[in-house]
Amino acid sequence: MTKNKFIRVKCTNCKEESIIFEKATTEVKCKCGNVLAKPSGGKVKLNAKIVEILH
Ligand SMILES: [Zn+2]
Repeated sequence: MTKNKFIRVKCTNCKEESIIFEKATTEVKCKCGNVLAKPSGGKVKLNAKIVEILH
């Protein structure tokens, strides 16, 4: 069984940290409006710096 993962990322624009679901099906935006992750059918495409992968 594959566990879904959450990824802690840091916005490249405002440095705010957010937690993103690795298989998010909707666009994830930061408070500042920067798009952190885009859905791509499987794992999201990240547009932010990965801080930590949470299992
Ligand atoms: Zn931001």
